[in-house]
Amino acid sequence: MKISEIFKKKDKTFSFEFFPPKTDKAMSDLINAVTSLKGNNPDFVSVTYGAMGTTQDTTLSVIDIIQNKLNLTAMSHLTCVGSTAHQIQTTLDQLKSMNIENIMALRGDPPAGSNEFIYTPGGFRNGSDLIKFINGSGNFSIGAAGYPEGHIESESLTDDLNFLKLKQDNGADFIVTQLFLDNSYYYNFRESAQNKGINIRLIPGIMPVTNIKQINKFSELCGCTIPARLKKSLERVRNDPESIRKIGIEHAINQGKNLLENGAPGLHFYTLNKSPETQEIFKELI
Ligand code: FAD
Repeated sequence: MKISEIFKKKDKTFSFEFFPPKTDKAMSDLINAVTSLKGNNPDFVSVTYGAMGTTQDTTLSVIDIIQNKLNLTAMSHLTCVGSTAHQIQTTLDQLKSMNIENIMALRGDPPAGSNEFIYTPGGFRNGSDLIKFINGSGNFSIGAAGYPEGHIESESLTDDLNFLKLKQDNGADFIVTQLFLDNSYYYNFRESAQNKGINIRLIPGIMPVTNIKQINKFSELCGCTIPARLKKSLERVRNDPESIRKIGIEHAINQGKNLLENGAPGLHFYTLNKSPETQEIFKELI
């Protein structure tokens, strides 16, 4: 089912994001995680594309399993990285043949070791161009990325919002945000987006912190601020993984509750392919 159709029936959606595995063992762990989270009746499940050194073909294999074997509504991420428009069209045709109706359209990150996105001749330079192409070439519901703290490369939040508006104008049906750990960024972003005329859903992306090294890395890569209080609590138990996990889960539960109480149109969980933490948070919220 198209996510735009789900929106007609539900004012809040709950969704889970996974990344494609690199080994057979990781693939079976992933299928177990998706299967276990299936019991929570997610509105849709998404799989990243080409991120974290994974291959694009694996995304399609995982998406196929989620949509056609596990019978969940799947959303494939798709990026501009390394593809011409012709190659993107081929991927869209493959997705269509698998009954995939939803795409998260992104520019994509620069390859590891580089901090500059490399344009592929005959391809696309940014997310909004890809959205326009998908909108004109297939019958998909399209998601776009939004950045409550600003995209790491962008000069200003105003620029970012102008480009976000272009994503809506080019056919995006909804926005999923980059992870953030302080809800005030989301509320400010939502207000500024509304003032710009962005009226599609702005679904907050939530990620449980379960590891100090990992959250520091995410913070560095995507520019997400770690609130001072959270940082202090985590540092206090830095040699105790179980306490770190507890603090991270509690923080995500408080964040989620506050967002839902304050009008967020649901939540998108960055699961990192693990079900227990997402499960623990989800059961406290729904
Ligand atoms: P864009 O919207 O193109 O923005 C990139 C930069 O260019 C920004 O600084 C923006 O301000 C600027 N910009 C945008 N439009 C223009 C324009 N017309 N002219 C000039 N400048 C412009 N990465 C992956 O590789 N695979 C994934 O599966 C993946 N999934 C993601 C899911 C979500 C929900 C999010 C939030 C991010 C995801 N990413 C993924 C990361 C994403 O690819 C990166 O953040 C990337 O750097 C930007 O993608 P974008 O589509 O937002 O780019």
